[in-house]
Amino acid sequence: MATKIALAGIGKIATDQHVPALAASQEWELAATVSRSHGVDGVEGYKRLADMLDARPDIGAVSLCMPPVPRYAYAAEAIAAGRHVMLEKPPGATLAECHALIAQAEAAGVALYFTWHSREAASVGAARDFLADKALKRLHISWKEDVREWHPGQEWVWEAGNLGVFDPGINALSILTAILPVPVHLTGATLSFPANRDTPIAADLAFAHPDGAEMTAEMDWRWEGRPEWTITAETDGGTMVLAGGGAELEIDGRTVAPGAAAMAGEYARLYARFAELVEHGERDCDLAPMVHVADAFSLGKRVEVEPFSF
Ligand code: NAP
Repeated sequence: MATKIALAGIGKIATDQHVPALAASQEWELAATVSRSHGVDGVEGYKRLADMLDARPDIGAVSLCMPPVPRYAYAAEAIAAGRHVMLEKPPGATLAECHALIAQAEAAGVALYFTWHSREAASVGAARDFLADKALKRLHISWKEDVREWHPGQEWVWEAGNLGVFDPGINALSILTAILPVPVHLTGATLSFPANRDTPIAADLAFAHPDGAEMTAEMDWRWEGRPEWTITAETDGGTMVLAGGGAELEIDGRTVAPGAAAMAGEYARLYARFAELVEHGERDCDLAPMVHVADAFSLGKRVEVEPFSF
């Protein structure tokens, strides 16, 4: 029988990906929404989470799609009410609040899932397999998109805690931390903040690899034209280019997996995983991508660049 779930924070990602993934799933039934201003046709809507939790004890799980800053309060409230919780990326605004949620969910015995949708992209597994037995020489992340095209009018991305260019950039770091066979750590960062904003519009990162491979990342929201969401890795056994946000894979110029529609299948796989976690009352809460972002903010040299407006 399908588990009833409520979706909270009905914006772009909820509408584009979560609602269709839930509709297509045998394991889930979208039974309610929680949103201050939007709903989903044919689904009971609540403006406040507390009201939904009180009125619908039959809804066992809540999936949170609002930006990171308000997310902790919603998650803590849902767990306190004994509900299983799934969170959009990044799982929170700070590492400490994420650890607090993990402890709370463990104590309550409910499932908690910090999702990283880009890890579910079609070629991430093949990239991990390619790198598993090779010596890495050089790796470069190029994550560049036009913020006006991909986040039109989303003022929250510029609010402190909501990460700015790391909102998409953390997707690259979620893939990086899934495909590398060894952990790496950040050694330097330059963060470009528009003079009128509280989050960066661009970031340049450098990492230390245990075997000395050169590792860098470049994230930029001032990019115009076709987005570039690419990780290039040179190894002793060939060069891998993982492009299209993890969908396309090329090895030594040969296409291993062609491009697919953006985010194809990613949310179906996330909800299948959440169903497993709920069944066993388990938690899947990897914070590795967020550690790199937190380190970039603590190590990062801050550069002021021209003001930004949509
Ligand atoms: P969005 O279109 O701006 O929608 C976010 C929704 O969150 C809003 O519709 C709003 O819903 C709710 N919200 C905003 N501020 C809130 C607050 N202070 N308290 C409570 N609710 C609030 O943003 P989005 O693009 O869907 O992104 C949301 C999250 O999904 C982000 O963490 C982002 O990284 C992640 N994500 C986005 C994409 C994408 O392609 N857009 C892809 C993957 C992941 P109500 O006004 O209806 O309450």
